Amino acid sequence: MKPPAPETEESSPRTAPFFSGELAGVGPARKRALAEVGFSSAEDILWWLPSRYEDRRFPTPIGQLKEGQTALVRARVLGGRTRRIYKRGLSLTEAIVSDGSGNLHVVWFNQPWMERSLTVGTEVCLFGKVVLFSTRAGLRLQMDNPSLEKADAGAADLDRVVPIYRKVAGIPGKQFRRIVLKLLDEHPPVESLPLQLRESERLPNIGEAFRMVHFPEEPIVPGGGAGEVARKRLAMEELLAVQCVLGEAKRERALASGVMIPATREAGLLLRRILPFSLTGAQRRAFREIASDLASSKPMYRLLQGDVGSGKTIVAFLAMAWAAQSGFQAAFMAPTEILARQQAERLAERVAADGMEVALLTASVTGRARRQILERLASGGLRLVVGTQSLFQEKVLFNNLGLVIIDEQHRFGVEQRARMVAKGRSPNVLVMTATPIPRSLALTLYGDLDLSVLDEKPPGRIKVVTKVRDDSAIRKIEAFCRTEMDGGGQVFFVFPLVEESEDSDTEAAVQAYERLTQGPFRGYPAALLHGRMNGPAKEKAVAAVRQGKAKLLVSTTVVEVGVDLPEASAMVVMHADRFGLAQLHQLRGRIGRSGQQGYCILMASAGASKAAVERLSVLEKSDDGFEIAEADLRSRGAGDIGGLRQWGGGGFRVANPIRDKALLESARRWAEKISRGEISWKAEEKERFGEWVRSWSGRLGSWGPIG
Ligand code: ADP
Ligand code: MG
Repeated sequence: MKPPAPETEESSPRTAPFFSGELAGVGPARKRALAEVGFSSAEDILWWLPSRYEDRRFPTPIGQLKEGQTALVRARVLGGRTRRIYKRGLSLTEAIVSDGSGNLHVVWFNQPWMERSLTVGTEVCLFGKVVLFSTRAGLRLQMDNPSLEKADAGAADLDRVVPIYRKVAGIPGKQFRRIVLKLLDEHPPVESLPLQLRESERLPNIGEAFRMVHFPEEPIVPGGGAGEVARKRLAMEELLAVQCVLGEAKRERALASGVMIPATREAGLLLRRILPFSLTGAQRRAFREIASDLASSKPMYRLLQGDVGSGKTIVAFLAMAWAAQSGFQAAFMAPTEILARQQAERLAERVAADGMEVALLTASVTGRARRQILERLASGGLRLVVGTQSLFQEKVLFNNLGLVIIDEQHRFGVEQRARMVAKGRSPNVLVMTATPIPRSLALTLYGDLDLSVLDEKPPGRIKVVTKVRDDSAIRKIEAFCRTEMDGGGQVFFVFPLVEESEDSDTEAAVQAYERLTQGPFRGYPAALLHGRMNGPAKEKAVAAVRQGKAKLLVSTTVVEVGVDLPEASAMVVMHADRFGLAQLHQLRGRIGRSGQQGYCILMASAGASKAAVERLSVLEKSDDGFEIAEADLRSRGAGDIGGLRQWGGGGFRVANPIRDKALLESARRWAEKISRGEISWKAEEKERFGEWVRSWSGRLGSWGPIG
């Protein structure tokens, strides 16, 4: 079995396929499917943790089922069939099963293949929720969309607490479960933490930890028991690797020498000329810190952290203008095309009067225009460039790159960041993030970066009025939106990732667009924006809103990332309970940017729990990004099973740096011990650990994990 490798190229020896062929049931096609979605090693699979569990140990007799119960039923099929419903594409599969204590109706929506398992007389196990269903003949209990196993199903699927995984493209859930079990049984992972550490922190070995998490003996309860012990072990594994990588990076950087951009009188005058307003105290402080980095021979490696709207951009622009004025090139990387375009325009507005030119380099800049930009970057004739991923493509060469700005840094992978930096000779790097985290935590997490914080908002910003509402208020809200638009304002409707796939996300927004523009907002000029549109189409939508041609914008969360729509005054976020608080805070930061009163309405989904709605109310009260992020991180995972759900931050699959503060601290101490050679290792552990850390240095830098 091989560890995850930093790169996924097949040719690399460290990514040798780990299903070395003997793994029954994993044929070449499946291996390819797994590799395609990023699983190239045993660890990749083991680290894909269950999102929940089903306790399929104890069947309930049908006669004893109760409404609302989630139960396992073991019964024989009396009959089953699929029929199409009047609406195109919908199907309904129904079955009746019996276990002697009673008969049960079972229904699946849009899973016509279920019919194949419903041969009369087969014994099946059904796991699902019992609901009350009203028919003409009266009420009856039925089970909706249960999972189904043949009664003689394999060891992974029945008679135990069964892990349920988030969908992996191309791999049926059952199959995935079997692969995991097989791995645990036949190819147990190799230990990587030194015994000394495991003993002193009282952590189980890696094989046990994975088994406890994937196939626990008992259902995992949040915050305690065996599940928590296993979680801690895995979290330690992650945190320690990160601390080792960061420590190493910092030690290396302390020795490097880089581009020096001295402060001159001309630079000072230039900055004064291009500054459109006076800086806040926080901006001034941050800029001073940056300026002294630029002027020093040590390359800058700084994180600029500030709540949405705190004015990070102008600070970055000043640094860029300064670099350009001193004869260096400066590049600004934005995560999306829309943003890149917007920032390029904003920068050009500032520096045009001084005769400085700003180029935009994105995927949609092609042909001659692109060639010219590349030529002029290579010759040094062009000093300021704003772009997307396009910037770090191989063909893009710089003459003397002195400064790299990376906006919304968590959107970029490490490797991308490294490639950009490699285009100069140790250029200065400023990364910016709007995900505020407490300073002490940031220092531990981003250990290798210096930190500047904008903790003050520019003057004149009016707090966005925020309300949490549910479906019952929808008519009122629609009326309110019409009033806003009639009064010259603009309105956003935002749809989250409804399912865990980008398709359905888009689907939801597209359908809503139809419904809203045909119904409540008929006659209002509208635009639609989602991630699957191509560059020009997106651009057109944003332009329509920015120029005031569209009054209504229906969008997926693509607007979250920094798109500035200054005239928008109201935002309605659908299914708001499915968002993180920090993300919602980002979203509402998009509106009310031109001094008008902004309104943000957070619509809870129909089925949202009371706790979920309460969580949202933090946003009604607080406007402080740090406070909100902390509340968010604290609550994150609290409601999941054992807190095991992968929380999607730029790296950690298990660790939660807020809740695992203590663990993080001890990881940092252990990392120091390791770097000082104070650990006695078994050779095997040491090698394994080295590989693990290297794989993280491949993943890192997409920092932060909190993204
Ligand atoms: P973010 O930190 O979210 O990137 P921006 O840099 O986009 O914030 O700034 C938000 C808005 O505030 C912009 O319209 C910007 O022009 C304005 N702004 C920034 N700094 C100041 C300042 N010192 N005084 C007045 N307005 C400012
Ligand atoms: Mg920004």
